[in-house]
Amino acid sequence: MGNLTIAIDGPAGSGKSTISKKISKELNIVYIDTGAMYRALTLKILKNKTNIYDKAEMNKILQNTNIDFKNNHIFLDGKKVDEEIRNNEISTNVSDVAKIKEVRKKLVEIQRSIASNKSVIMDGRDIGSFVLPHANYKFYITASIEERGSRRCKELKEKGYNANLEEIIKEIEERDRIDSTREVSPLVKCKDAFEIDTTDKTIDDVVSEILGIIRGDN
Ligand code: C5P
Repeated sequence: MGNLTIAIDGPAGSGKSTISKKISKELNIVYIDTGAMYRALTLKILKNKTNIYDKAEMNKILQNTNIDFKNNHIFLDGKKVDEEIRNNEISTNVSDVAKIKEVRKKLVEIQRSIASNKSVIMDGRDIGSFVLPHANYKFYITASIEERGSRRCKELKEKGYNANLEEIIKEIEERDRIDSTREVSPLVKCKDAFEIDTTDKTIDDVVSEILGIIRGDN
């Protein structure tokens, strides 16, 4: 039996990672959060005060950075950074890092190599269109901007952070704008992707819908 590959794409806050995690458990396959990789690199860039517009500086940092996953945790140069990469400063800077060609080249290489010898569900912006164009299943997950904003707001408040809905909506809209208009593999909905609007659906509804499509096929 060959490996199963599932590509999940969509705008910020659409529920991709929560849904992907659940599906990976149900199907007992590996989950790869590619957004976390762009965030980890952004964390290092901010810490080192790297000038992202300086090619030499960027090449140096790309050559000297190690990003990988172990047991569903993300490691930056050997250190677990799951929590740190979720902060607001990273969210507001990550899309400017992610639009750099050399950055994408390096991270896409890692993503493809992880997926090359096992069954995976991978979520991001360019998975179905570029990273895994031959994925067995592609899904494009969306929700209204109000819904995405209020989900993110709730999540942050639950974690004890201050969160302002209007500011969060602005941040998400700006990130989506950069992600969908960049030159290198922008966020797009692939023709062969199933589109699911999660605005009025629960996570479990969406998970069942996706599992139904995958299992119904076999
Ligand atoms: O998925 P998440 O919202 O954590 O992603 C953070 C950012 O990483 C996105 O806004 C985007 O700029 C970048 N990203 C990307 N390509 C991916 C995954 C994420 O450019 N495959």
